[in-house]
Amino acid sequence: MGVYSISRERMVREQLIPRGIKSPAVIAAMSKTRRHLFIEEALWSRAYEDFPLMIGFGQTISQPYVVAWMSELLESSPGMSVLEIGTGSGYQAAVLHEMGLKVYSVERIRELHQRTRDRLAAGNYARIRLKLDDGTLGWPECAPFDRVIVTAGGPDVPAPLVEQLADPGIMVIPVGLDKRSQKMVVVRKINGKITREAKGSVAFVDLVGACGW
Ligand code: SAH
Repeated sequence: MGVYSISRERMVREQLIPRGIKSPAVIAAMSKTRRHLFIEEALWSRAYEDFPLMIGFGQTISQPYVVAWMSELLESSPGMSVLEIGTGSGYQAAVLHEMGLKVYSVERIRELHQRTRDRLAAGNYARIRLKLDDGTLGWPECAPFDRVIVTAGGPDVPAPLVEQLADPGIMVIPVGLDKRSQKMVVVRKINGKITREAKGSVAFVDLVGACGW
């Protein structure tokens, strides 16, 4: 097992399956993606533990279960395009790439964007497209996206992201006026109609931008 206190296999068996993660594609991607490569080496021993971890600049890499849950809520199929807002460590983007999606990811903090760009290139994830920008405005040049995933919490669903969602399309985003707690919301666009469904409570870092905090 090496330097990790918990193996990937045990993470899947003890943190994901018992909490209801069922998608074979999500389980395969979480089993394969080397989460430790997306954090500082000093934290490697804790890479597969049941917690979020600090990645610098006040930001975090989500708990493995939350990454798996959001990936499952997207109801994606291989070949679809997905826009991620909040590249952070790049781990969520890597998991979506392993699931066969065409990944576009936007980060607003320059240092995180640059560090993750280098890490993804070194880790054979060069096909993930990255942009340094305010992701609440989306990525209009590459829209529409079959799926949108926002990995930071804002006061409401940013209108540009709804516009850039394909029809049919699904967006997963933590939303709430309380900065310490949000509801995971699934936004669906079908035949021009937008619906929202609130799932469980979560705690994400702030979505900062023109259509965020
Ligand atoms: N998906 C990431 C989670 C990182 S935490 C991972 O797997 O590691 C959320 C990230 O969202 C932070 O890096 C933060 O800087 C970024 N963020 C916050 N507001 C943003 C915005 N408007 N546009 C792009 N990124 C944003």
